[in-house]
Amino acid sequence: MEKSGKERKAVKRWRRNRNAGEILAWFRENMASAKSELNYTNPFELVVAVVLSAQCTDKRVNMVTPALFERFPSPDSLAGASFEEVYEYIKSVSFPNNKARHLLGMAKRLVEDFGSQVPSTVEELETLPGVGRKTANVVASIIYGVPVIAVDTHVFRVSHRLGFSNGKTPLEVEGDLNEIVPLEERAEAHHWLILHGRYVCVARKPKCGSCGVAKWCPSAEVQAE
Ligand code: SF4
Repeated sequence: MEKSGKERKAVKRWRRNRNAGEILAWFRENMASAKSELNYTNPFELVVAVVLSAQCTDKRVNMVTPALFERFPSPDSLAGASFEEVYEYIKSVSFPNNKARHLLGMAKRLVEDFGSQVPSTVEELETLPGVGRKTANVVASIIYGVPVIAVDTHVFRVSHRLGFSNGKTPLEVEGDLNEIVPLEERAEAHHWLILHGRYVCVARKPKCGSCGVAKWCPSAEVQAE
């Protein structure tokens, strides 16, 4: 008998969840030590590094942050800097004009509204200049252990290929991932999916032949064609 739309959806969801369980188990076993590739030593440095990493590589950001953090080790020191001085330190990352402005605005807001501390909730973090949902989620999960998954371009792409989500926006993908990934694994899942997207499930030619989760991935054959 022909399945109804509701039944087809239920089967699809069941398959997605079954595969997700296998895929998450594989990541858990094989990427247990996954972590951010940005260098930082405290919450302030992490939020600065994540702001700088928008549409830029972590490697490039890690090249500019040692000197930047040495000159501006705290929100107070950065808040008192001039635009030109900050720009000089970060001019080799993408969009240095905007990012210099954002860093100055963020430092001032931290000093004026948060006692020079990086706030711990996604909602508060999102009020900082230059800090969108993705950056807020990264900082909240890494520093404060808040169970949220930051959806960047890698997480977005890999989630679609793995059949975890059909979401059209990062927020929709985040919602779908929240249905699949248990609370206690959301912080790690963010790193699993980012690193998998950065090194294996790359944008142009995903390396399906050497991918550890290929046998559960609905895109493996499509990508191999
Ligand atoms: S099998 Fe291919 S498409 Fe699927 S996750 Fe692995 S690399 Fe990506």
